[in-house]
Amino acid sequence: MVAIAEQLLEFPNKPSTFEPDEPGFDTLALHAGFVPDPTTGALLTPIYQTTTYRQEAVGKDKGFTYSRSSNPTVSALERRLAALEGAEHCTCYGTGLAATTALCLALLKAGDHVVASQAVYGGTVRLLNQILGPFGVTAEFVDTADEHELRRALKEKKTRFVFIETPANPTLRLTDIELSVRIAHEAGALLVVDNTLLTPALQRPFEFNADVVLHSTTKFIEGHNATVGGALITRDAALHERFSFVRNAIGAIQSPFPAWLTLQGVKTVGIRMAQHCANALEIARYLENHPRVTKIFYPGLESFPQHELARKQQSAGGALIAFEVDGGVAAGIDLMNSLKLCALAENLGAAETLVTHPASMTHADVPAPQRVAAGITDGLVRLSVGLEDPIDVIRDLSQALGERKCAV
Ligand code: PLP
Repeated sequence: MVAIAEQLLEFPNKPSTFEPDEPGFDTLALHAGFVPDPTTGALLTPIYQTTTYRQEAVGKDKGFTYSRSSNPTVSALERRLAALEGAEHCTCYGTGLAATTALCLALLKAGDHVVASQAVYGGTVRLLNQILGPFGVTAEFVDTADEHELRRALKEKKTRFVFIETPANPTLRLTDIELSVRIAHEAGALLVVDNTLLTPALQRPFEFNADVVLHSTTKFIEGHNATVGGALITRDAALHERFSFVRNAIGAIQSPFPAWLTLQGVKTVGIRMAQHCANALEIARYLENHPRVTKIFYPGLESFPQHELARKQQSAGGALIAFEVDGGVAAGIDLMNSLKLCALAENLGAAETLVTHPASMTHADVPAPQRVAAGITDGLVRLSVGLEDPIDVIRDLSQALGERKCAV
């Protein structure tokens, strides 16, 4: 079994502290932004299930007027997420894609250009191409891990923002955040990081001067397959104002109950991520040594081509593994259909181990040539490692790979 400490110690970043004198990450995950209720002393922020708020007089309210603009439970989650990313401002949304939509509507107008990672979540590609394209926005998807590609894309057209996802879903290709920030800023563009796959427990883009961090809180932040949600986090007050304005204008705010569930989930994000990573490393090592596995991508493995970059900007390898098996597409599909404990499902980032076929599920709407260029082959299997005993996941993989007995 891979001890949590072994996985975390391999990476030089300290996952649990910001500054020596500040509260640690796990303390912030439990307490940051909590405002005690003076009348009841309730230890948890209540679910403020209300549409509107009684005002004392015309023009005199207590900071809340209508729950499409803001809501106390949602605000509590926003304070917590901002603190965990080491920022001041956060707006939460009904889904991760609602957050991406608000980001685009806040920053773009007809004629504007966006540069995005070639391998990103399929819904991000669909939004930029199929929804915003007809409104006159152009998007170019490049290998943002390649400095020259990124510089070239920024030189060709005036770009409003660069959108990177690192690690990218599902290939786990990494982009150097610090370098991308520098290149984007030199070109007068903002740098947005989708930090969904790692959470601030493992990667903090503001330490590298990113402008905006985006989350699908649906994944590890809430962590229990119970809600959908999204967040935009920034240190820039003017950007935050703009996001809040757009969120109200398009009606994309999160509802109080999922916000409350997310507040409970996020309390354990540091502890869960550490265990996810330890389990994933053990499973990745098993797969790496399996004779039927032809390719494996896991940033925590020394054989991962960008392992050094992972060590620079992450505090562990994360919970996602992508791999291919011999026999190509049919064998990959057969493997996914044969798993019993690991559920074949669209989501990632939860307590239960999930397996996904990106080409036909999460990335089905990405044009085939772009999928292939991004390394999302038809045989690629994505595993989101959960919190089960890793040996049980290994046993399941083992039987699905056609072994009578588990090889470990
Ligand atoms: N970003 C990443 C990396 C994702 O994987 C997803 C969904 O899978 C999203 C954004 C979109 O989030 P949601 O499904 O909450 O809309």
